[in-house]
Amino acid sequence: MTVPAPESPSAPPTPSDNTSHALLLDLDGVLLDTRPVMRTAWRRVQELHGVTLPFHAYERHLGREFGDIMQRLGVADAEAVRRTYEAESVGAAHLAQDFTGIVEMLHAFVAAGWRLGVVTSKHVDRAAPLLARLGCPFATVRTPAGAGRTKPAPDPLLLALVDLEVDPAAAVYVGDMAVDQESAARAGVAYIHAGWGYGQPTAPEPETVASPKELLRLLRPAEQLVEGSMV
Ligand SMILES: [Mg+2]
Repeated sequence: MTVPAPESPSAPPTPSDNTSHALLLDLDGVLLDTRPVMRTAWRRVQELHGVTLPFHAYERHLGREFGDIMQRLGVADAEAVRRTYEAESVGAAHLAQDFTGIVEMLHAFVAAGWRLGVVTSKHVDRAAPLLARLGCPFATVRTPAGAGRTKPAPDPLLLALVDLEVDPAAAVYVGDMAVDQESAARAGVAYIHAGWGYGQPTAPEPETVASPKELLRLLRPAEQLVEGSMV
């Protein structure tokens, strides 16, 4: 992939602007460790709705939209379950933890002029309080509330790139589940697997990094990238 030099900060966007880079990130298992939040919310679903499926059955499908997961699990009364899950998730948001080095990594990309976006299947009511704690200026946040299909479709990634005015070839998506990898492939966006997250990648084997610090070392946002591969 050819990566053009970053634009100067003062250059206004033009119709032909293709000089910016974008770092798109998944939320759960990439930006934040939200497993304690999800586990608490699922326990409440079990208590209130008589759902006997264990948390690991839910967790297997992370990355997909909640209604999609309920359908795959065969959960009845999915709308009532969603209301319980969302209310409990918002109440338990304080249980989420930053992954070590994630905030420093985000700031390094912002300082280098990259455009940052979040692409998540988490609904906006649950995503917003979690993202607020990172204190990072994400230029776009794409959730299932917007237009288009949800992951593993390419739509949310492509819509985020429209928001950011960045070409797919100049973007990277960092995810932790196979649906993230599929979404990126279908969008024509380079994919990097966050090895600190919850899932395993599938074939073809993607670039995998073990920590946010390693992602910084791989993409070197502060350097002048002229020719070569971002991944
Ligand atoms: Mg995830």
